[in-house]
Amino acid sequence: MTGGFSYPDMKTDCSACTSLCCVALHFDRGEDFALNKPAGVPCPNLSDTAFSCAIHNDLTRSGFGGCVKFDCLGAGQHTVQEVFGGTDWRGHPELLPEMMEVFRILRRLHQSLEILKYLELLPLDDAQSQMITMLKGAFAAPADGWTLSSLTDLETDGAFDLYHTALPAFQSALQDPNALAALRAAT
Ligand code: SF4
Repeated sequence: MTGGFSYPDMKTDCSACTSLCCVALHFDRGEDFALNKPAGVPCPNLSDTAFSCAIHNDLTRSGFGGCVKFDCLGAGQHTVQEVFGGTDWRGHPELLPEMMEVFRILRRLHQSLEILKYLELLPLDDAQSQMITMLKGAFAAPADGWTLSSLTDLETDGAFDLYHTALPAFQSALQDPNALAALRAAT
């Protein structure tokens, strides 16, 4: 059962998260990260006693510019607070794999919704407006909120495939001479 569509809050709030990005994601040593880190293993710079980074004020100089560039678009706090009711992965390590999977799919969803939100501001023709409505329907959260199961269904049922197939149809709207002015006026 799906509720009416509304965009989730996609402004990242690290204070409502449990540093999920610092444990869930893998790094490859290189320009953006000073070391290799597998997914599911806490970053060595993450405090053992708090969800805070020991080099937070010195990330780029310390070789962790990738952390500065990263934005989960609110997927972290939604995972922790809404899907897992505030549970933290240190207190419940058995839940970490599920939390990582929810975080991954929610981040993918929020990335798609962020684009959709901008496309909606463009001068659209009827077919493009209908497509936005269809995509919002495909991405609408269940009335009782996302779960790992409903997020997994979102992927397997093809919502993201639909989104990627639809994107080229907005090329003409992006090239419209009024597009930039419309985006500036609305943001
Ligand atoms: S360097 Fe800091 S912000 Fe980056 S992953 Fe490690 S603990 Fe998190």
